[in-house]
Amino acid sequence: MKARMTAEAAFRLLADGMSRAGTDAFLPTLVEHLATILDVDHVLVAQVEEGHYAQTLAVWSQGALQPNLRYHLAGTPCETVSGRQPCLYACEVQQRFPEDELLGELGAESYMGLPLFGLDGAPLGLLALLKNAPMSLTGLEKEILHIAAAQAGAEIERSLARQSLQRSEASARESERRLDTLLNHLPGMAYRCLNDSEWTMLVVSQGAEVLTGYSPAALIHNREVSYASLIHAPDRQPLADKVAEAVARRDTFRVIYRLRTACGQLRWMLEQGQALYDEDGEVTCLEGFISDISEQHEAQRVQEAVARVASAITTRMGDDYFHQLVGHLTEILEADAGIIATVDMAPASLVAAGRQPPRRLTTVSVSAAGGRRDNHSFDLRDSPFAELADSREVIVRNAAAVWLPGVEGVFTAWVGRRLENTRGDMVGALLLLYREPTDANAFATSVLRILSTGAAAEIERRQDHRRMRQLAYFDGTTGLANRVRFMEDLHQMRLAAERTQAPLGLILLDLRRFKEINDLHGHQLGDQLLATVAGRLQGTIGKGESLARLSGDEFALLVPGASAEVVEESVTRMGEAIGRPIQLGRRTFSLKVSIGLARYPQDALTPGELFKAASIALYHAKQEDEGVCPFTASMGQALERRQQMSERLERAIAQEALTLHFQPQVDLRDGRLTGAEALCRWHDDEWGWVSPGEFIPLAEERGLIRPLGDWVLRCATRQLLLWREAGLALPGRLSINISAQQFADPRLAERIGMLTDGLPASAIALELTESDFMRDPEQAVETTRTLNRAGFTLAIDDFGTGYSSLAYLRRFAADSLKIDISFVRHVLESQHDSTIVQTIIAMAQALGMKTVAEGVETAEQAAALAAMGCDQAQGFHFGRPLPAEAFIARWEASMRENQEPAS
Ligand code: C2E
Ligand code: CA
Ligand code: CA
Repeated sequence: MKARMTAEAAFRLLADGMSRAGTDAFLPTLVEHLATILDVDHVLVAQVEEGHYAQTLAVWSQGALQPNLRYHLAGTPCETVSGRQPCLYACEVQQRFPEDELLGELGAESYMGLPLFGLDGAPLGLLALLKNAPMSLTGLEKEILHIAAAQAGAEIERSLARQSLQRSEASARESERRLDTLLNHLPGMAYRCLNDSEWTMLVVSQGAEVLTGYSPAALIHNREVSYASLIHAPDRQPLADKVAEAVARRDTFRVIYRLRTACGQLRWMLEQGQALYDEDGEVTCLEGFISDISEQHEAQRVQEAVARVASAITTRMGDDYFHQLVGHLTEILEADAGIIATVDMAPASLVAAGRQPPRRLTTVSVSAAGGRRDNHSFDLRDSPFAELADSREVIVRNAAAVWLPGVEGVFTAWVGRRLENTRGDMVGALLLLYREPTDANAFATSVLRILSTGAAAEIERRQDHRRMRQLAYFDGTTGLANRVRFMEDLHQMRLAAERTQAPLGLILLDLRRFKEINDLHGHQLGDQLLATVAGRLQGTIGKGESLARLSGDEFALLVPGASAEVVEESVTRMGEAIGRPIQLGRRTFSLKVSIGLARYPQDALTPGELFKAASIALYHAKQEDEGVCPFTASMGQALERRQQMSERLERAIAQEALTLHFQPQVDLRDGRLTGAEALCRWHDDEWGWVSPGEFIPLAEERGLIRPLGDWVLRCATRQLLLWREAGLALPGRLSINISAQQFADPRLAERIGMLTDGLPASAIALELTESDFMRDPEQAVETTRTLNRAGFTLAIDDFGTGYSSLAYLRRFAADSLKIDISFVRHVLESQHDSTIVQTIIAMAQALGMKTVAEGVETAEQAAALAAMGCDQAQGFHFGRPLPAEAFIARWEASMRENQEPAS
């Protein structure tokens, strides 16, 4: 065994190695010296790559440097060291790591390894010593090892830094080389201009002549021709502004413009460049590169214009869509006016879908001088767009002046596109007009061609909608008006009756035992029978009367101006008409009918009640086999109480005898107050508290809901303002219930704004039940957007009980869904209800809406809902609806915390 080295000799050797730091000799010297100093057989320094491989940088073995090698760390003692701690396996290292073949090849018996780290502590590699005999290290030897490891780590780090620098220098050189090649081969011209008033050119590269048709000499110093003057006139100013802006931002600029070349051609140019600045930050000159992009450009410019218009349009439906489309198109195509018009269609052709040559057009949007103009109708054949009756496109570059109704001035050029439905019929036209003659119409027509499909689709969708409504009003079997149409007629005629102070009769007629005939002879014959009955009834009706088939075998007739005798006559005629035997094929049928009738105003005042009265009478007629049965007061006792209630309610509203209660809404995660719902309460002197479940529907039926709703809004506003004065602010918003009739008001947003005067819109949320949204979803989309724009949020109440289509939900500008109490009630016990709730929450999340659970009565329900991801809750568990004072007593702390700091 060799004598161990003295400490002094060892450090001398180390210092000798260190002097080579930063050279390729450093690591080989280090491993050699370590082998000597520590008297081991093998020493290696390795870098760890990809976390799993060791790549040696220097290997000393059996008295000589060895070639470098790369090995997998798995199953080696090095694996236990790399990135971790120093490890010593003093003996039998081969038995411990049987998979490590290198240990066997070297004949190693012991192993000492140290991890190597960079200055920032990142693991870099390892230093390993192996000895073909057991190993033991003294304190001094360990010290030496640590110093050596620190040096080796620093050396690896240095070499890594060097490598990456070399790589980045190489790539910089490469990209410079590529740029050079590119500039040399690009067709175009590089330039440098002086920052004088003319931007006089100092240098112009070779491509100038090809690009402009002028020699570089002609362009430099603007001797013969100023480059700026080549730029097609209308582009010049906006271009200069754009460049100036970029220069001010110290940014590069990229502009596209048209240039008139020496031979008078208009070409498209792309100019990219930047300014150079002196030490004071002043612009000394501009330099850049100009290339001719006429070829690619036309297609690209069309795409860009289309994309710009399309992305500027924020709605895809309704009038706003047309306004936005025309507005943006006019702007981008630099037109002076733009129009979208639809072909007028007779209602009959909507139903019959018959083809007729288009004659009149009515504008749906007119834009001129950046503003919207009134709509008007015009005769297509006398207009400049007459060609569109037979051809898809019209382009007029320079014509005798024409004018448009409602738009001042005259036009001398226009482009237009016919809008067609999917069957190819003309449904409208899209037109752009110019005051000055124009030359660049190919571009405009391309853009129009693409964007006109959207406009055509929207017009078609509207017409389909109308056509569907028409179809929806008629019963297919009999051709009579259906129930929907009848209900509308009933409302209209009742209003007319009220206006003219004339009575209105309602006759309901039911075929007796029709079901038996139907079952016995089949539906087909049943339908024939119904059609015959309908035909006969039709023959009996007088002027202004309205006949409808309500359902299966039930018909209704509305008789305006009907005195008792007139109604009786009608009834007799109907009875006789149906009483005559009906021959169908070889069979003969004798039908009997039951008839119930009621009259406005004698029996009932509202359409609903009139219908109810007639239904009650019909019910009696069927029961008692009487044939004809007029409504009598005794049948209407129930109606009586409702009548009384509606009178008292009307009075209560007028006298402001209603009150509001407030129910807290809380955050399900932490129970914090997030808002409240205002709920209306009515106490009648005789009847006590009347449930809103009873008086709200009544108010809706009796036309009292608007005054009631107005009062609620006013009262809520008063309360919130009082609280604010007292230094109390409700966190979040106060939710207010809105009924369908209020919602149908096209000026709802304005109205609410007026009633809540003094409050910011952000204090109010509106709740509307799901089924009310879905009554007329298109209208609802519009209304919700207006409300939203005005700053109110919307919640869809009683969600889960209606039939919302996902497509609509996405389009309503509602921000939360209130999960109906009926699902919350059994959410713990019913798997079914729990699934529904989870689905609603997932859906709301997908649509970016909040969820509020209603009717939460227990802590368990709250916990379950929170776990499902429901955001907020309302219910007895968190607090019942309370009068204002009681609400404050309970929630004052939350409302003070929330106070905005006084200004
Ligand atoms: P809504 O909008 O669904 O209101 C929630 C109803 O659930 C309230 O009934 C409330 O008292 C009740 N509720 C809240 N938490 C719980 C609970 O934990 N358990 C149970 N069982 N019920 C709970 P309320 O006050 O009787 O009102 C009934 C409906 O009347 C309201 O249903 C709303 O549709 C209508 N309504 C109330 N006030 C107004 C109003 O000012 N305007 C309009 N248009 N409708 C109103
Ligand atoms: Ca509600
Ligand atoms: Ca509700």
